Amino acid sequence: MPRDCDAAYLGIGQTIALSPRGLRCLQMKRDTRPVENVTPPSPEDASQVDLHLHAGQERDQPLDELVRWFVDNGVTTLGLLDHSELYMMGDEALRAKHGQIIYPSSPEGLGDFYDEIDRMRSKYLAEASIYRALELPEWELLTIPGEMLVRADFLGCHMNTSCHDPSYRHYEDISCGEHLATRASQLLRVCEPNSQPAVLFHPFHRRIAELRTSIKTGELVGPEEVFTREDIDLLLDSVDTDGLFIELNFGDIFQAAEYREISKQLGRTCRRLREGGLSFSLGSDYHRTPEEFRDPSPILSRLGIGIEDLGLVQTLSAK
Ligand SMILES: [Zn+2]
Ligand SMILES: [Zn+2]
Repeated sequence: MPRDCDAAYLGIGQTIALSPRGLRCLQMKRDTRPVENVTPPSPEDASQVDLHLHAGQERDQPLDELVRWFVDNGVTTLGLLDHSELYMMGDEALRAKHGQIIYPSSPEGLGDFYDEIDRMRSKYLAEASIYRALELPEWELLTIPGEMLVRADFLGCHMNTSCHDPSYRHYEDISCGEHLATRASQLLRVCEPNSQPAVLFHPFHRRIAELRTSIKTGELVGPEEVFTREDIDLLLDSVDTDGLFIELNFGDIFQAAEYREISKQLGRTCRRLREGGLSFSLGSDYHRTPEEFRDPSPILSRLGIGIEDLGLVQTLSAK
């Protein structure tokens, strides 16, 4: 199991109470029109978007309750996903890892997960846009069987972000730009046969962890960057930016926000990416339903990101 996803989840600090939008949503009368006459709502701000929710093998409640929780908190654009490897390791290994088997650990089991998402999509059609997705490990991107990929509305690459774990050191001789460019090209190749949007999941995590370490050890971080202009140019020179999205992962943005310098640098990096023609996704990476709703929009506005910059939302709704 990629440990940094859990770390991203656990790294989220304090939470805040239900947002005004969540309260409005709770107070809203449920739409009772027949589903065929209803189109899902478009989000008006980033607090309504979460395109990285682990809702399969690790969840701690029925899918319907999980979706209900987010919708009641005003989150109405939902990307429900799971790690692909949890459907490739076999039931025994899955039970040993997570102590439970919600769907068989097989491509058919992933189909069962997606079938259940489809039922949620119909049930919540008047209230939410719900998408199927899959998180692929970057080190096995090109070897995932095609049958695992075909039903996903979008695919994400789990970017190797663990800076200090010796078992994840295979990237250490390449720059961030080379790392990004390599994975982005591979992911776009994987997404191409089914014209799926490609998302680099938590791509900032490695650098933000390094910058935090620098600050804690008293090193200067002033001249450093989250991604340098060279990193971004390398990425832009290697890929067609159409269909590629950079995820703003809660773990990254909330951790960056704890340090003024890192926050400034992340804002600069986001601006450079946007000027280069890239757009963004947004996801909490929750592996379990959180105790309280957390609104990312104030931090996003400080990074210069608004709902209009979350291009994956528009791309998915236009499909
Ligand atoms: Zn991940
Ligand atoms: Zn994840």
